Amino acid sequence: MKGLVLSAKWEPREGYELSEFEKTTGKAITGNAIWRHPKLEVQEVEKPTIKPDQVLIQVKACGVCGSDMHFYETDEQGYILYPGLTKFPTILGHEFSGQVVEVGSEVQDLEVGDMVTAEEMIWCGHCFPCRNGFPNHCTNLEEIGFTIPGAFAEYIAIGAKYCWKLNALMDRYGDEDKVYEAGALVEPSSVAYNTVFERAGGFRPGAYVAVYGLGPIGLAVVAECKASGAAKVIGFELSAPRRDLAKKVGADYVFDPREVTPHEVVMDLTEGQGADLHVEAAGAPQVTVLEMEKSLAINGKIAQVGRAATRVPMYLETLQVRRGQVFGAQGHSGHAIFPSVIRMMASGLIDMTQIITARYSLDEVVDAIAKSVTREDGKIMVKP
Ligand SMILES: [Zn+2]
Ligand SMILES: [Zn+2]
Repeated sequence: MKGLVLSAKWEPREGYELSEFEKTTGKAITGNAIWRHPKLEVQEVEKPTIKPDQVLIQVKACGVCGSDMHFYETDEQGYILYPGLTKFPTILGHEFSGQVVEVGSEVQDLEVGDMVTAEEMIWCGHCFPCRNGFPNHCTNLEEIGFTIPGAFAEYIAIGAKYCWKLNALMDRYGDEDKVYEAGALVEPSSVAYNTVFERAGGFRPGAYVAVYGLGPIGLAVVAECKASGAAKVIGFELSAPRRDLAKKVGADYVFDPREVTPHEVVMDLTEGQGADLHVEAAGAPQVTVLEMEKSLAINGKIAQVGRAATRVPMYLETLQVRRGQVFGAQGHSGHAIFPSVIRMMASGLIDMTQIITARYSLDEVVDAIAKSVTREDGKIMVKP
């Protein structure tokens, strides 16, 4: 079968000290400090075979994620930009949907023909965080498309317990192709759901929400917050096409942060009361959090989901005086997140297929990732 293979050289940067974990597993904890000269190529690879607890999925749609872009882009020394857990070579792609074509002997609740999507985080279920109910912080984590083969391929083998059926979406869309496109958007929409509802604990209907960064995660935050009763959703984003997409999925106001002073805009639009929830989905907290602090409602929250390996000076007095809280969000597993997002889609509360701005075949997947570098698109979909 065909698959998009990323290979790169294991060349730790000068001064970077490899951990024991990195030495024994060959997995980089800090990808951008180790992997150099990445090469992305659609290759002929072996079709995966399933274990008794796995299913084989024929991939129907797989979205290009910001992290795929950060494997394609390199710094001046040729290192990948992605700062997280990685092991190469592997097949990329982790926001996918497809049809079950083979079922392992121990699998009970999936059958051939089922339409499914799957979690990207392969949590172990027996480490300390997993046993305590925190699968997004599994210490034995494998990640599809990062450390193990992903879904920019014709087929993928995956544990049945990570799969979620999309059958309910058929009633909404009435079209298989659309169901698979929506299904491939469940993963990023679940990252948004985890941020707003699981980590930050959500908000009361009538709340004011400000979202910084309107890439696919920020757009899902906008859609989910509007659908959940936010009175005003205010978005900030550099790219004009992305601002338009935010309007489409429910933003009440969108601004180019270079043209306004964001905290002033938020204070104006909230009658001087500030936003009850601020979401950082831009990955630029050194800029955005400083604005959020100045427009934080009493009892307001800040949720960080964008990734940025940088320190941010905060004036903690603000958190005291305004009863503020800051939350860090990562992942999408557990906590009824995937099924809730699928229900929101099936009921029509959110329609994330509106953010798809380009479609490519598997043969063109490198072009698809190259296109994403412009940071103008909503979601780019690859359809094997
Ligand atoms: Zn992703
Ligand atoms: Zn675990």
